[in-house]
Amino acid sequence: MSEFSITRLSSTEENFDTQLENLLAWESVSDAKVNQIVDDILSEVKQQGDAAVVSYTNRFDLTTVSSMSELELSPDRLTDALTTLPQAQRTALEKAAQRIRQYHEKQKSDSWQYTEDDGTMLGQKVTPLDRVGLYVPGGKAAYPSSVLMNAIPAKVAGVTEIIMVVPTPRGELNQLVLAAAALAGVDRVFTIGGAQAVAALAYGTETIPKVDKIVGPGNIYVATAKRAVFGAVGIDMIAGPSEILVVCDGKTNPDWVAMDLFSQAEHDEDAQAILITPDVDFIDQVEASIRKLLPTMERKEIIEVSLRNRAALILVQDMDEAIEIGNRIAPEHLELSVEDPQALLPGVRHAGAIFMGRHTAEALGDYCAGPNHVLPTSGTARYSSPLGVYDFQKRSSLIMFSADGASDIGGVASILARGEGLTAHARSAEYRIKK
Ligand code: NAD
Repeated sequence: MSEFSITRLSSTEENFDTQLENLLAWESVSDAKVNQIVDDILSEVKQQGDAAVVSYTNRFDLTTVSSMSELELSPDRLTDALTTLPQAQRTALEKAAQRIRQYHEKQKSDSWQYTEDDGTMLGQKVTPLDRVGLYVPGGKAAYPSSVLMNAIPAKVAGVTEIIMVVPTPRGELNQLVLAAAALAGVDRVFTIGGAQAVAALAYGTETIPKVDKIVGPGNIYVATAKRAVFGAVGIDMIAGPSEILVVCDGKTNPDWVAMDLFSQAEHDEDAQAILITPDVDFIDQVEASIRKLLPTMERKEIIEVSLRNRAALILVQDMDEAIEIGNRIAPEHLELSVEDPQALLPGVRHAGAIFMGRHTAEALGDYCAGPNHVLPTSGTARYSSPLGVYDFQKRSSLIMFSADGASDIGGVASILARGEGLTAHARSAEYRIKK
C-alpha cells in the first residue's frame, strides 16, 4: 500500500490536454494469437456443427459430455431454479426484473403512416427481430443481472425466440442465472460459451438454431468472435472495460465517492475510475478515503491495479469546466454528485448513463434502477446509446403512391434517374406518368 498512488491532474497545467488524452487512451483489444484461435473455432463450428461445439466445450469448460443434447437445459430446470431460490434472492430478482421491464416498456416505438393530399401514403413499419442469441458470461463469475438487462428489452420488443448461452465450467450451474432466465422469459438455454457458442448462434448447428443478432458481454474470445461474425448476424456492441466518472462539488461524503470509484474499479484491472472536482481539499479527502477503505475490500488487488493504472483525480477551476471535461471523456457512467444535478444536466452531452445527485450510486443502475446497464464505453457515448428495446426492433419503410402521386413524383424520379444514366429507373417511373 505504501507505493500506491493515484494520478492527479489539474486543468491549469500546460500539458493537461495531452495528459487527459493519455489517461483515456484505450486500444480495443486485438490480439493476433486470439484472432487465430477464434478463426479456427469459428470455421470448425461452421463445418462440423454440434460435434465441434461439444468438443470445444469439453476442452475449455472441462466438461465430459458426449452430445449436444446434454448441453441444453430443459424449461423445467429453469423454473425449478426460480422456485427453489432463497426467498430474499427471488424477491430481489423479481423487483429488479419488474423495474427493468417497466422502464423499457417506454422505449417501444410504434409503426406510423401518413397520407398526402393526393392519396399517397408513406410510413414506417416496426418489426421485432425473429430470433436473438444472448451471451451470458460464465467463465470466472456469473452475471444474473446481465440476463435481465439483455433479455427483458428483447422480450419487450416482441422478439419471437431468445436463445441463451452460458458456459458452465466443470458443469457447475449458477441457480441465480437460471432463475433470471426463467423470469425474463428466455426460450432455450445451452450451457456453452466462448467463441464456439458465438459461432453456433451465428451459423446454426444441428441443434442450435441460427439467430439474427447476438447480444451480451464476454471475454476477449467472445468479443473477437462477435466482431468476426458481424454481418452474418447483427451484434450489439464490443464493450471495453467499465468506466465511472464522478463529477463532485466537494460536498459529498468522500467515503461515498471513494466507494463509487471502487464499484467500477473492482470489475477488472483495466476499468477506469475518475473524479473531477473544483475543490482541492476534496481530492485529498477522497484519496484518504481510498487509502482507508481499500484494505477492507474483497477485490482489493483488482481495485488497486485499476486505480494505479487508469484512475485520476482531476482538479478543475469550476463546475462548468468539470462538465466540459466530462463531455470530452464521454464516460460509460457519469455521477453528478452535487446538490442540484438538474442545473448541470443541460451541459452534459456525452455519457452512457447519468446518475443524478449524491444519493444515486451507480451500483443501483447496475442492478435494479430500471435503465439498462449495457452502455457505450471508451468514449463511444459520443455517438451511441444504452442497449434498449430499439436494438431488438427494426424498421421497414412504407411507400404507397396513388395514381396521381405516381404521375406527379414520377417526373422528379425520371429527371434524377436520367441524370445518373439509369434509363430503366427513368422509364419505370415514366410509365406511370399520366399522358
Ligand atoms: P466468458 O463467458 O466471457 O468466457 C468463458 C469462455 O471463454 C470459456 O467458456 C471458453 O470457451 C473461452 N475461453 C477461455 N479460455 C480460452 C482459451 N484459452 N482459448 C479459447 N477460448 C477460451 O467468461 P469470463 O472469462 O468470465 O469473462 C467475462 C467477461 O465479461 C469479463 O471480461 C467481464 O468483465 C465481462 N462482463 C461485462 C459486463 C458488461 O456489462 N459490460 C457484464 C458482465 C461481464
